[in-house]
Amino acid sequence: MGILKSDGTGRRLDGDLGDGDRAFDGTVGDEEIRDALHGAIDKFFDRISGKSKADGAEASLDGGVSGSAAGAASSPAALDLPAMMRRLAEVGEPAWGRYILANDMLRDKIDAAEGDEMAARAAECGREWAARARERYGTNRPGEIAAKLGIAVADNPAPVSGRRALFAQYLPGSGDDARIEVLADPLNRYGTLRERLIAQASGAEGSDGGNGGNDSAADGVADLEHLLPTVARVRTLLLAHELFHAIEDRNEADIYTRTATIRLWKVFGKENRSTVRGLGEIGAGAFARELVGAPFCPFALDVLLMWAYAPDNARALYRQVLRFDE
Ligand SMILES: [Zn+2]
Repeated sequence: MGILKSDGTGRRLDGDLGDGDRAFDGTVGDEEIRDALHGAIDKFFDRISGKSKADGAEASLDGGVSGSAAGAASSPAALDLPAMMRRLAEVGEPAWGRYILANDMLRDKIDAAEGDEMAARAAECGREWAARARERYGTNRPGEIAAKLGIAVADNPAPVSGRRALFAQYLPGSGDDARIEVLADPLNRYGTLRERLIAQASGAEGSDGGNGGNDSAADGVADLEHLLPTVARVRTLLLAHELFHAIEDRNEADIYTRTATIRLWKVFGKENRSTVRGLGEIGAGAFARELVGAPFCPFALDVLLMWAYAPDNARALYRQVLRFDE
């Protein structure tokens, strides 16, 4: 799960991969690993970079400076992270589906009604597999399920840099060395940010002079703790998201998110169809939410984790999501 292009290059499925339960056979190179993206936001960055530069912000994540702490504190009047998370928790599933599909490479080929229907089915597919996994493995912990599937889980210490904001990824490997990596950097940054926001809120009684100050500070802290999930919860959601991609890989012959297709063209009775990568992302989000439980759609993590790098980019993502929730 991460914010990258979703142009479908993550893996090539045109070849005959044969039996459905076989793990991915490694026909892609490192550059093409199935990155578990759901956002397509690399393209999104392309679209907003001009605007960001005009704002004096750097669309690239390398700059980093505007990241973690600075953004929220320096512009208190601006849309802050807790406010965005509060609003995002109200965004309905159809809107999230449109957000994901709007960033898919094939977005222009997907009719709106067809897209809504496919997104709904993909989400349902994710939930069904979550229930199935829970029943079969007797746990809702994605790490335990991954272990039972022979998938290693590791933290990747690499810094997030460049234009990609990658939060976690599923690496199919060559069959018996499949693994899920969760990037430590975004989680560390978010953890620091969360602690700082909560510490600020708990110190708020000093500024409003006495009576009731402690109560309101306590309310503020409780509010933040509710709106901003713990690092452990975020990590579990990311892990669950990737776990769905592993499950897709192993069931690609019949899982909806890998078998549903749209028509690209039809000429004289001959047609060409394609799977839609975004459906896997929608399925992964629904799977994670169903398995782990969350008061918000896991795609809100795009905004949450992006904030620690570049608040302006996080706000832009937020606005993009809300456009689909009208
Ligand atoms: Zn994904």
